[in-house]
Amino acid sequence: MANGQEQFDAVIVGAGFAGLYMLHRLRGLGLLARLFEAGGGAGGTWYWNRYPGARCDVESMQYSYQFSDELAQEWSWSERYAPQAEILRYANHVADRFDLKRDIQFNTTVISAHFDTQSGRWDVETADGEHVSARFLIMATGCLSAVNLPAIEGRDSFAGATYHTARWPHDGVDFTGLRVGIIGTGSSAVQSIPLIAREAKHLYVFQRTPTYSVPAHNGPLDREEERRIKADYRGFRARIAETAFDVDGEINDKPALGTSEDERDAAYEKRWRKGGLPFLLAFSDLVFDLRANETAQEFVRQKIRAIVKDPAVAEALLPEHAVGTKRLCVDIGYYETFNRPNVTLVNLKKTPLAAIVPTGIRTTERLYELDAIVFATGFDAMTGALNRIDIRGLNGLALKDAWSAGPKTYLGIATAGFPNLFMIAAGPGSPGVLSNMIPSIEQHVNFIADVIEHMGKRQLAVIEATKVAQEAWVQHVNEVAAPTLFPSTNSWYVGANIPGKPRIFMPYIGGYPVYVQKCKDIAANGYEGFSLSSRSI
Ligand code: FAD
Ligand code: NAP
Repeated sequence: MANGQEQFDAVIVGAGFAGLYMLHRLRGLGLLARLFEAGGGAGGTWYWNRYPGARCDVESMQYSYQFSDELAQEWSWSERYAPQAEILRYANHVADRFDLKRDIQFNTTVISAHFDTQSGRWDVETADGEHVSARFLIMATGCLSAVNLPAIEGRDSFAGATYHTARWPHDGVDFTGLRVGIIGTGSSAVQSIPLIAREAKHLYVFQRTPTYSVPAHNGPLDREEERRIKADYRGFRARIAETAFDVDGEINDKPALGTSEDERDAAYEKRWRKGGLPFLLAFSDLVFDLRANETAQEFVRQKIRAIVKDPAVAEALLPEHAVGTKRLCVDIGYYETFNRPNVTLVNLKKTPLAAIVPTGIRTTERLYELDAIVFATGFDAMTGALNRIDIRGLNGLALKDAWSAGPKTYLGIATAGFPNLFMIAAGPGSPGVLSNMIPSIEQHVNFIADVIEHMGKRQLAVIEATKVAQEAWVQHVNEVAAPTLFPSTNSWYVGANIPGKPRIFMPYIGGYPVYVQKCKDIAANGYEGFSLSSRSI
């Protein structure tokens, strides 16, 4: 440890919703914390993802913090699904309202964090060569923050402008009069394609895997509904927290199989008209039984055939995987965009992408000449941001090595061999990404703050997940995933979008309330599964 380096009770990495609330909670405990953030401002996801059309896909009245009643009452969302700029304003409002920025160091990337066994402290190093020392290291680095720029042949040879949706220029991009190519058809592409198409001279959509998307039916927030929710805000949030994904949407306990075709289609139609992710809650067996899932698949495919006028284009847009096993997209006019004369769908399944060349994108069929390329190619999800930092725990063990055969955690919050390190809602084994993320973040932060308070009261210095508890948790995570359709689909949930990444279904799918109860029980039992000690190791 360098002499004279600054000493903190905790270092937090990341100033998204997780890092901001963590800092607030630690302050409340009287701890001295420093937060490092690579970006130039607060907001995380909403700071970086400024592409046209970016907005939340969980309704804004739910995609909000609930830790402060005053905050919940004073903030008013403009739309059912707020746009990126408004969510970013909200994050900054929170940071200012709770005076958080004075402990945040922006434009600072953490490159390494080494645990010193003797002192029981973390030595945290930034890209500028600064070292600080902290007892606790809290990774609020995000589940979808490590950008994936695929190693396509000739990628850097393109002579025109290139953009990644998650690194969008702050002053926007004007595509007027340009020939634009977009690679990818996940959520980011689905949101941006309709808007880019309106501006560009011509938009070529390079699609490898067709996607399922449900209309958002976005619009101004219904003020009467807002008033009703705010009148019993805590009750509203508490009721939703009892549902499997912590997302409001009338869960139906009936299975699709055993329901008549007419009744099934009526249920899907009702949800299609309402819009959004609750489409997946139409029947209880959709993510468990392939035949049940096929009924929902076919419903969406019929919608695509009805919306897209050119039958060949419609056919190329039809997804084949089990709906919901890749994140369901929520759109504003996505399929309709393929009826525009200035939009061409390039089916990479039929004519694979061969290379990027100085003048455009070459498939096995032909060259598409372009002025700009948009990479809507997603993220190295969940483990990416952690593995990009040289994190070393006991005996110099690197996290990357500990996780080389697949990530292992206890509750998605801690990992054996890495004392006093916590992860917030992005860790494998956490329900985070399968839930409404802000409540999951708050739950994880509260758990972490509570255990730190518990340690303080008992003069405990070191906490570590035990291997036994970790193995049991990993086994449980796998057991609850096994009967679902999730593990068999190639998605970022299983790491299939990153070449060489171990294939493991990472999120916890046992249900948000089940997870919360387990955490409560563990805390009530003196943080069962963690070893707590009063001195360094
Ligand atoms: P982030 O917001 O990702 O913040 C992590 C921060 O850590 C980043 O600012 C990053 O720069 C910083 N960081 C990472 N590594 C380092 C390092 N080494 N050094 C310094 N700083 C570092 N979830 C939902 O529930 N509903 C939605 O509607 C929804 N919409 C989304 C839309 C998009 C476009 C994306 C990409 C994700 C969306 N998500 C949504 C998931 C979203 O990521 C979470 O909801 C939430 O914003 C995550 O907050 P976070 O603080 O955990 O992580
Ligand atoms: P994504 O879902 O991982 O989609 C990436 C797309 O790029 C996929 O279509 C993928 O095709 C394609 N792709 C990747 N590498 C490619 C290559 N080498 N050649 C051709 N195509 C390639 O990423 P995302 O759209 O950024 O979304 C990630 C997650 O962020 C979402 O699942 C969601 O959780 C969140 N998000 C939410 C919203 C929202 O609505 N609020 C918006 C954006 C993002 P394959 O499928 O074939 O791999």
